[in-house]
Amino acid sequence: MKPFSTFRVVFPSFLLLIVLSFISLYLFISTEIKNFYYEEKTNELLVHAELIANSITPEKINDAEYINDFCKNVDPGANIRITIIESNGQVIGDSHEEPGVMDNHIERPEIISAVNNQIGTAKRFSNTLQKEMLYFARLYNINNSSIIIRISLPDESLDATLNLLQNRLILGGLIILLAGTILSYFISKIIANPIIKLTDQVHHIRIGNLRERIQLKGTKEILSLTESFNDLARQLADRIDSITVQSNEQKAILTSLIEGIIATDNAGKIIRINPAAKKILSIETENLIGKNISSVVQNNDLINYFEQYLDKHDRGMQEITIPQLKSKTIQLYAAELRDSEQERIGSLFVLSDISQIKKLERIRQDFVANVSHELKTPITTIKGFVETLEAVKIKDKKTIKKYLNFIGKNTDRMNYIVTDLLELSRLEQQEYDTKISLKKQNLKLVIEAAIQECDFQANKKSINIKLDCDGNLMAPLDIGLMTQAIINLIENAIHYSKENSEILLTAKKVSNTAVISVTDHGPGIETKHLTRLFERFYRVDKSRSRKYGGTGLGLAIVKHIANIHNGNVSVESKVGEGSIFSITIPTK
Ligand code: ADP
Repeated sequence: MKPFSTFRVVFPSFLLLIVLSFISLYLFISTEIKNFYYEEKTNELLVHAELIANSITPEKINDAEYINDFCKNVDPGANIRITIIESNGQVIGDSHEEPGVMDNHIERPEIISAVNNQIGTAKRFSNTLQKEMLYFARLYNINNSSIIIRISLPDESLDATLNLLQNRLILGGLIILLAGTILSYFISKIIANPIIKLTDQVHHIRIGNLRERIQLKGTKEILSLTESFNDLARQLADRIDSITVQSNEQKAILTSLIEGIIATDNAGKIIRINPAAKKILSIETENLIGKNISSVVQNNDLINYFEQYLDKHDRGMQEITIPQLKSKTIQLYAAELRDSEQERIGSLFVLSDISQIKKLERIRQDFVANVSHELKTPITTIKGFVETLEAVKIKDKKTIKKYLNFIGKNTDRMNYIVTDLLELSRLEQQEYDTKISLKKQNLKLVIEAAIQECDFQANKKSINIKLDCDGNLMAPLDIGLMTQAIINLIENAIHYSKENSEILLTAKKVSNTAVISVTDHGPGIETKHLTRLFERFYRVDKSRSRKYGGTGLGLAIVKHIANIHNGNVSVESKVGEGSIFSITIPTK
């Protein structure tokens, strides 16, 4: 059953209380009035009876005719009837009837009481007078004769008086009832209104307006309740604020972590996942909360790792390479999630994308192998010639000179390699330190200086170097390094170009960058080599490179110089047509 409102409970209760009080009061008062009225009437009739008894001539007490006449002549007024009865019940006189026609009255209740010397009263319908009558009877001893004087009067007059009284009582009661109803209505409203308002305002707080405060006028209890609610809302707001701050902090930490974090419940359903985890696993689905961790990845090794940990809970770090994700290598670490009671509530997976580290490791290993390999060849050659010179007694100066010449060439080669390696290492250092200061320079002047450096080699192959550059193009540069980079590109172009060909150098402004390009019409490079061309010691044709004294480090040096200038290098090439090597650096 739906509960009633406070007003609907209080108001009818008041009303019922008033009606019940009125009815009880009415019944009580009307009974009391009736009793009082009858008592008064009885006393009045007793006075009448006394008077009648005193008025009878004692000597004629046994004279029936006298008594009857006496009764008829006495006039107490107001419809009062007088009957004088002997103690045996025989009527000897009556004011309204002839005693001869009247029955013996010994059986009448008021007479029975009177015979027993008590004041007898009764109320009944009189057959003689055909009316409801009130009877009063009392025994008197006059001149040694016992007579009963009975006085009766119609009850109608009594009833009329009583009715009048009752009507007034009812009218008064109705006025009180009406006033009570109005008063109850207002009192009920006074009681119910603050509760309604309180409920209404508490509802506002409940739906989230925790900053709202309840303001009510009311009784002490209502004010205390209001204050309690306000206090509760304040505490709740504070608590929610601190939880929100905590949650935002957690979110911020999780979002800014490079490591991927996935928290699951005991069943493996995701309860938290940060953007890094999605990025590492290349998941694009927006909402992953509630999904099983194994269902959001495709790789079997990953699925096995997650399932095994969820199943057996053995901590473990594992590296998994995912061929589907460009051979990305992910390092996984799993731990148990426990609540404040140390109860296990789930698992935490930490994912790190270590592809870059792996790549660097591989590059380092390759580098060591390459350096060793690059240096081993000239060392072996030198060793061979020295041993030959030692073992065989060669007297032919020409042969000795030839051998020494080989030794000299290989020593130079080692020198170039070591010089280039030292240069690279210096550039790398500068790249990390970023201490180098770049100053705005005229690019055309820098390129012209580089061309001049290469003039001799170009002339040897009758190669024409053309320059197309805006004379006003400026960019922040380190002149020495930038000249070195451009020289490296021009030298390569000369090496790989046929005699009598042309090399074009351009420098253009493209939005906020300056693009310096070296175009040759050499053999070109196959597309598969292009991405690795700027790696150290990477050469398309090793023997050809060595033949002209190349170290395989020239483009790596160019790349580092471009990086130091906050720029980059690129290459476009077509086999049989030639290559374009470009350095792009910012102009501001
Ligand atoms: P190297 O000392 O061998 O020239 P680089 O780092 O300068 O080393 O160049 C790496 C490789 O790139 C070269 O061995 C060559 O195979 C290729 N290469 C560089 N420049 C050109 C070019 N202009 N035309 C064709 N191949 C080139």
